[in-house]
Formats: sequence, C-alpha cells, structure tokens
Amino acid sequence: MKEKLIRFMQGRYGVDQFTKFLMGVALVCMILSLFTRSMVWSFLILLLLVYCYFRMFSKSITKRYAENQKYLQMTAGIRRKWASFQRNMKDRKTHHIYKCPGCKQKIRVPRGKGKIAIRCPKCHTEFIKKS
Ligand SMILES: [Zn+2]
Repeated sequence: MKEKLIRFMQGRYGVDQFTKFLMGVALVCMILSLFTRSMVWSFLILLLLVYCYFRMFSKSITKRYAENQKYLQMTAGIRRKWASFQRNMKDRKTHHIYKCPGCKQKIRVPRGKGKIAIRCPKCHTEFIKKS
C-alpha cells in the first residue's frame, strides 16, 4: 500500500508553502462557516481543497514551482515581520529591546544586569538604561 502511494506520488509536485497557505485559508473558511449559514463558504472550501489537490498531484512541476515562488515573493514582507514578532515574543523574558536615541536603531539587551551603558552599533551613541 505504501509503495503504491510512493509510486503514485513519483513525478508529482507534492505539498509546498503555497498549498499549506491555501489549506490554512480553507480551515479559516470552515471556522467562519460555523457561524454563518451561507452556502458560499462550503463552495469556497470545496474550491480551495480541489485546487490544493490539483497542485499536489500536478505533474507540471515547473509551473507549480513558479506559483510557489510568486507566493513566497508576495508574502516575504509579511512573513519576515511575523517571524521577527515571534522572535521578540520569545525573547521578552530574557531580553529587552531599546531604541537608540540617536538613530532609532533597535538594540537587544539582556535583562537583569542593572544599569548599563549601551552603545549603538550603528551610530555609536552611548546611552544608559536599566536592563
Ligand atoms: Zn544609533
């Protein structure tokens, strides 16, 4: 059974970031559809899932790859912001982010070190903060 599946998937495109994103959108639609009685959601979900499967089983790998690259390009800014937001949330307990008074450069400083002099790596302004 597993071998059959592997043989079936050979030469096919599979799952990429764009498909994962579309599946996420379908999931959001499913949640929204619970709160509304509109048939539009079911139709949209079906459409999204059919498109997801179409991409996964597609043999036009270069075309699908180009679509994914376009998706990644279009969302690069948002994904970068989201990643840095997640990093900051994780860092909050151990580090503090200060803005340089000279050039507004963000500087990451470990917490719990008392009063420290911080030197901006960009414009070399020194300022004193409690960490
Ligand atoms: Zn600075």
